Amino acid sequence: MRINEIFTSIQGEGVFIGLPTLFIRAAGCDLRCRWCDTPYALLDSQGTDWPLDDIMAEVRKSGVANICLTGGDPLRQPDDSVELMKRLTAAGYSVVLETSGAYGLAGVPRNERLFISMDVKMPGSGMADRNKPENLELLRSGDQVKFILAGRDDYNFAKEFLREHAVPCEVVFTPAGGRDLAWLAEAVLADGVRARVLPQLHKYIWGDERGR
Ligand code: SF4
Repeated sequence: MRINEIFTSIQGEGVFIGLPTLFIRAAGCDLRCRWCDTPYALLDSQGTDWPLDDIMAEVRKSGVANICLTGGDPLRQPDDSVELMKRLTAAGYSVVLETSGAYGLAGVPRNERLFISMDVKMPGSGMADRNKPENLELLRSGDQVKFILAGRDDYNFAKEFLREHAVPCEVVFTPAGGRDLAWLAEAVLADGVRARVLPQLHKYIWGDERGR
């Protein structure tokens, strides 16, 4: 599998925020979100080939129980990602799959240790035409959809999206950049939107440092 980096940190985003986590970052993404904070992982050439056995060995060595398979987009390498998720959950690890929402979720193995964190891309990312609303039907109550909001226009788009689509899981609103929370919290409260307003915790702790 083409891997950009493997590192231990705390989970900085979404409903598992704060948990010590081993991040396995797949290399390669077809999207180009304007605010992307992992530009160093967008190309296949920004990764190296890792046999799945070696990834599993790295996981065991870490001693961490929570795994985040992220990217890039892991589902751009669907066969390896599915096999890795199966191996990890069979070995007792709790796994969060982070995906852009641009790839179908039908092949993702579902079990009680595997959680999907799927983005819904907003106009401010420049990638809203890559959303696949049909993926929402494959999400379950423990999963989450993440809306990264670059400003008021994105917020209004997200509100409208939630009015038009049934979302069967947690809804997370996070400002692009991860720290400018006040306007978003006030808007959610004023409008009664069913969303958690969350920061990118790692940016508070380590700034934009890579591998954190
Ligand atoms: S989907 Fe994720 S990795 Fe790909 S460009 Fe957007 S933010 Fe970056």
